[in-house]
Amino acid sequence: MAMYTRRDVMKAGAAAAVAAVAGSVLAYGKDWLMPTTQPAFELAACKDGTYVLPELPYDYNALEPLYDEATLRLHHDKHHAAYVAGLNANLTKLAAARKDGKYEDVKALSRNVAFHGSGHVLHTLFWHSMKPGGAKPDGEFAKACVESFGSVEAMQAQFAAATKDVEASGWGVLAYEPLAGKLLVLQAERHQDLTVWGVTPLLVCDVWEHAYYLKYQNRRAEWVDAFMKLANWDFAAQRLAAVRK
Ligand code: MN
Repeated sequence: MAMYTRRDVMKAGAAAAVAAVAGSVLAYGKDWLMPTTQPAFELAACKDGTYVLPELPYDYNALEPLYDEATLRLHHDKHHAAYVAGLNANLTKLAAARKDGKYEDVKALSRNVAFHGSGHVLHTLFWHSMKPGGAKPDGEFAKACVESFGSVEAMQAQFAAATKDVEASGWGVLAYEPLAGKLLVLQAERHQDLTVWGVTPLLVCDVWEHAYYLKYQNRRAEWVDAFMKLANWDFAAQRLAAVRK
């Protein structure tokens, strides 16, 4: 993510900044340096109209021991990749249906687009929702949490509780709701169910079993507690600032 990384670099001294830039180029990939107002993670998730698997914004072992390398490799390289492939494949089938004027499968294809498309979006956000060491809520984002939840701690407590309590496979989601201009904590079942139309997800936590079962087995609450230590509230703050413009 360009913005907070740049800020991080600015905070460091000159010598440290050089080292940080060198390390970040390796860790974040070339998109890190793109001079753009559009977040790099969005550019990395779709290229020339085709959805693509974005690179992780850190090394596979960067979130150890809270999020283990083996789970992260499988999760990103296999599970997320499958949603990208599924989204592209179903859109191709819909294009063929339009060309032929044959819509017998439109219901199944539309459902598949919602499932794989939401899976791609949420996983793309998920990698940035974590950061080695985490990041504390502050500034305008913290103020928005106080306005919407009473306090930062109350937002975090509701987010963790909602995420732990998702029925079956799904996500905990902190989102911005534009009609009221407030933050909401939502649960998503699978990837696509239980949203409020029009919200922008700011920070998400995956509680599908594939997200944690290798290390945490059936102890989902332990995984969510670990996630809260990795939670990158700087990312949520940047997304909130962008969507409020
Ligand atoms: Mn997942």
